[in-house]
Amino acid sequence: MDGETRARMRDLPSVDRLLTAEAALVARHGRAVVTEAARDLLAEIRRGAAMPTDIGGALALRLEAAARSNLRPLFNLTGTILHTNLGRALLAEAAVEAAVAAMREAAALEFDLDTGRRGERDSHLRGLLTELTGAEDATVVNNNAAAVLIALNTLGEGREAIVSRGELIEIGGAFRMPDIMARAGVTLREVGTTNRTHAKDYRGALAPETALILKVHPSNYRIEGFTAEVPGAELARIAKEAGVPLLNDLGSGTLIDLSRFGIAREPTVREAVAEGADLVTFSGDKLLGGPQAGLIVGRRDLIAAINANPMKRALRIDKIRLAALEATLRLYRDPDRLTERLPTARAMARPEAEIRAQAERLAPEAAARLPGVIVGAVACASQIGSGALPVETLPSAGLRFSAIAADRLAAAFRALPRPILGHVSRGALILDLRCLADEAGFLESLALARP
Ligand SMILES: *Cc1c(COP(=O)(O)O)cnc(C)c1O
Repeated sequence: MDGETRARMRDLPSVDRLLTAEAALVARHGRAVVTEAARDLLAEIRRGAAMPTDIGGALALRLEAAARSNLRPLFNLTGTILHTNLGRALLAEAAVEAAVAAMREAAALEFDLDTGRRGERDSHLRGLLTELTGAEDATVVNNNAAAVLIALNTLGEGREAIVSRGELIEIGGAFRMPDIMARAGVTLREVGTTNRTHAKDYRGALAPETALILKVHPSNYRIEGFTAEVPGAELARIAKEAGVPLLNDLGSGTLIDLSRFGIAREPTVREAVAEGADLVTFSGDKLLGGPQAGLIVGRRDLIAAINANPMKRALRIDKIRLAALEATLRLYRDPDRLTERLPTARAMARPEAEIRAQAERLAPEAAARLPGVIVGAVACASQIGSGALPVETLPSAGLRFSAIAADRLAAAFRALPRPILGHVSRGALILDLRCLADEAGFLESLALARP
C-alpha cells in the first residue's frame, strides 16, 4: 500500500460516522438500507475503488438508484399507442379514481347492498357489458389469454375444437393458440390451409367428438393475396346446424366503430355477437382502453358454465381492476365524449396537424436543453399496437435528434428519473409525439439528460 492510499484509508469515515453525517438520507431511506449501502460503499473503496470526492453524495446517488422502481412513469414516445412491454392502455381519469377508491375503502365486491346477502363479483359488469355488446350475459377473468383458456376448457375438455390453420396464431409472450388448447384439455382439429379455409373444410371435420368451433382474430399479422376465410355469420350457421357452440376470440375487440377515428374498421364485439358467435372473448387493456382483463360475453348457459368452472376462482380479477374496468365501460355509454375521456381513444383520434404543430413548437425548446444536439420536427407513422390493425399506421409527427449517436442518446433518455422512450429510424432517434400530453414534464426531463 503506498502512502497516498494509506492516507486515503485513514480519512475514510466509519459507517457510524457516515450515518450520523447523513441523517437526511437515514430519514428518507431508513436506517437499515442506508447502513447496508454505506457498508458496501466503504468496502468497495477499501478494495481499491476510486475514492469519491463527496462520499455522502455518492451514497445518496446509490440509494436513489436503488429506490427507483422499474414501474416508475415514463414517456412512451415509441409511436406504438398500446405497447405491451410498456403496460398497454393508459387508464381514463374516472377509472383511476375508481381504482384508488377501491384500494382505500371497503367496497361491496361480493355483497348485495339491496338484500344484505352475499353477491356476485361479476354482477357489477354484467349489465354494462350486455348493454354495450348485445350479448345475453358476460363474465370477466384475469386477461384474454385466461378468457380463451377457461372458455375452451369449459366447452371442450376431453373433446375436439375445430380451428382454421390460418388462425393458429402466436401472440407473443408465449401465447400460442395450440399450446393454450392443449392446456385447456382440448384436442386441436386443424382444417384448411394457411392461406385458405372454406366452409366445406369445417363441415368435413365435424364429428361426434367435436365440442366447438373456434375462430381466432389473426391479430398481429395479415395474409394477403390468394386467401379465403369463412365469414363469422356462416361459421355460426355451420356451428348451429351441428349443434356445437362457436367461440370467437376477437383479441383486441373494440366496442365502437373505429372509423370514427379515421382508422380502418375492426369487427366490433357487438357485430361478433350479432352474427351468431355463442361466446366472444377480448382484452380489457387493448383497444378498449381499460385495465388488464379478459372479457367473455355470450350465451347465458355457457357463461353460467364458465362461472361454475373451478378455474374461474384461479383466474378471477381483483376489486381494483374491477372498479377501473367498470368505470372504463361506463364511458362507452357516451361514445361522443370518448376522445375527451379515454386516453387510448384520444391518442388514436389526435389529428396529424395538431401533432405536427406540437413537434415544430417543441423542436427548438428541446434543442435548447440539449447542447450540441440538433433537433428537428419530422413526419413519422404511429401504430396502434397490441394486435390491433397490425398493418395500419396513423400519420404522425415527432422530434428527430441528430449530431449524436442514436444509441448513446437513447441510453441517456432511458437513464432519466422519468425515462423517455423513442425509436431509431435510419440511424437517428425519433420521438413520436402522438402520445405526449405532459409537455412541461417532458421538457423538464429532457433538460436532465446527460448524453
Ligand atoms: C392479445 C390476444 C390474446 C391475449 O390477450 P391478453 O389480454 O394479452 O391475455 C388472445 N387472443 C388474441 C386474438 C389476441 O389478440
